[in-house]
Amino acid sequence: MTDFDPIASATTKVADNREPAFVHDADRAEAVRRLESFTDRHGTRRPNVLVILMDDVGWGDFGCYGGGVAVGAPTPNIDALAARGLRLTSAYSEPSCTPSRATMLTGRLPMRHGLQRPPMYGEGGGLEGEVTLAELLSSGGYVTQAVGKWHLGENQQSQPQHVGFDDFYGFLSVSDMYTEWRDPYFFPEIVYSRARTDWVNNQPFNKSFVHARRGEPLTEVEEVTIPVLSELDQRWCAYSEDFLRRMADGDRPWFLYHNTRGAHFDNYPHESFLGTSPARHPYKDTIIELDTIVGRLVSTLAETGQLDDTIIIVTSDNGPEMETWPDAAYTPFRCAKGSTWEGGVRVPMVVAWPGMIDPGQVNDGIFDFNDILPTVLGLAGLEGSVPDDRFIDGIDQSSFLLSPGGRSNRKYHYYWLGQAFSALRCGEYKFVLNAVGDGPEANADVHGPGGFSGTLQKYPYGRLYNLYLDPKETHSYMIRKLAYQEALVGQLQRHVMTFAPPYEPKLVIGINV
Ligand code: CA
Repeated sequence: MTDFDPIASATTKVADNREPAFVHDADRAEAVRRLESFTDRHGTRRPNVLVILMDDVGWGDFGCYGGGVAVGAPTPNIDALAARGLRLTSAYSEPSCTPSRATMLTGRLPMRHGLQRPPMYGEGGGLEGEVTLAELLSSGGYVTQAVGKWHLGENQQSQPQHVGFDDFYGFLSVSDMYTEWRDPYFFPEIVYSRARTDWVNNQPFNKSFVHARRGEPLTEVEEVTIPVLSELDQRWCAYSEDFLRRMADGDRPWFLYHNTRGAHFDNYPHESFLGTSPARHPYKDTIIELDTIVGRLVSTLAETGQLDDTIIIVTSDNGPEMETWPDAAYTPFRCAKGSTWEGGVRVPMVVAWPGMIDPGQVNDGIFDFNDILPTVLGLAGLEGSVPDDRFIDGIDQSSFLLSPGGRSNRKYHYYWLGQAFSALRCGEYKFVLNAVGDGPEANADVHGPGGFSGTLQKYPYGRLYNLYLDPKETHSYMIRKLAYQEALVGQLQRHVMTFAPPYEPKLVIGINV
C-alpha cells in the first residue's frame, strides 16, 4: 500500500447522487471512538450546533489568520475560540452571499440549488423547493433557530420559517439594501428627492427586520433606518443569547444559525464601538463588534453548561467586497468577492467542539461550504438523512474534523462562476478556465476592480497555479505541469457529467456568463 496523496490517491464512491470521497480508515476509527465517548457522556441526546456566519469578512481579518492587530482590528475572542479548536486554512465559500448561504444549508453547488447570485430589492426566487439542513435536523428532533441576515429569498415559501426553522428574527435581505438609498453620502439624488424616495419606498421589498414562527406569516419588528441598522448586531446577539439560555433548560438538541449583519457594506457599527479599533474605521470597528459577539455567544454556552455539547462553526460567506474599499475585508489572496480567485472564495473557518476536537489545531485540508450539511448530520448521528432524491455535492468530513491531524475527505474543490465552470482545485494545484477580475489592475493588487465589476476572462488552454508556491495566483505553471492533465482536465469532464439527467442544473437567479 502506498502513502496517501491528495492527487495520486483514489476516492471511493459513496452513492450515485454523491461526490466521491476519500476514506481514511484511521481517522474514521478515531472519529467513531470520539462519537461513542460523547454518547457515553450524554446518552441519546445529540450535540447542539451553533453556526456563526459573518458577512463579507475576509480570510485575513482574524488575528488567528495573521490579521487582527496587524490589520488594525484585534479579534481576541475569535482567536481564543480557535485556540480551543481547529482553524481551517482551505475552507471555501461560493463567490457571494446568497450562493454561499444556500450551499451551506443544502449541501449543493449553486448550479444545483439555482441561487447563482443574490436576489436584490425584492427580486423573486429563493430557497423554496430545496431540502435544508434545518429541515433535516428538525426531523431529527432539533429545535431550529435562525437569527440575522437571511438573503435566501423574500417570497413566503423561501422564508426561514417555511424551510425548516422554528423561529426567525432578522432581516430577509442584505444590509446595503436597507440603508444605501437612505444615506445622503451614497444616494444624494434619492435622499434629496421626495419623488425618488417615494418611488423606492413603493418598491415591493421588505424594509423592516422581522420575526416569524414556523409556518406562520412574518411580523415586522421595526423599519431598518440607519440608526436601527447600527443596533442590529447587538439586538440579534441578545436574541441568540436568550435562545441559548432557554435551550439550556430544555431536553432537545438545537441548531442556532446566527448570521451577523456585519461586516457587509455599508458598515455603521453600534455607537459603543465607534472608533474602538486601532484603525478607527467603520469596517474595523465592526470587526471588533463581531468579535465581541462571538465572545458573548461562547460565554453564554459556557455559563449555561452547554459548551462541551455544542459544535461551533465560525466563518464568512465570501471574501472582501473591494468595490467598496476601504469599507472592506482583508485577504492575502488574489481578487475579491464575486470572483473565483482565492480572494473571493477562500474564507476563515474556525471549528470548535471542546472535548471532541483537539485544541490548537490548524489544517489545510480542503473543506467546502457544501460539506457542512453532511458533516453536521454525520456528527449528529443523522448521516442517514442526507437526501437521496437529488445530487448532494457535500462530503461528510466528520473524520477530518474529529481526528487530530485528520485528512480531508474531499479530493476536489469545484469553482463555478454563475453558469460557467471556472476552476478546479486538487491538492496544491488549481486549474482555471474562466475567471473574472483579470487585467492589469487585478493582476497587480487585490484592490483591483475584480469581483462584480471585473471582466470575464476565458483561458482557452487553462491556467494552472500552485497555491503553495504562488498563493496569489500570478504565475501559470501549466506548460511545466502537464502530467496533472488527467487529475484536472479529466476530473473537470467527470464533474460536468454529474449534471446529466436526472441531475440537471437548476436556475432560480442566474448569471449568464
Ligand atoms: Ca457576503
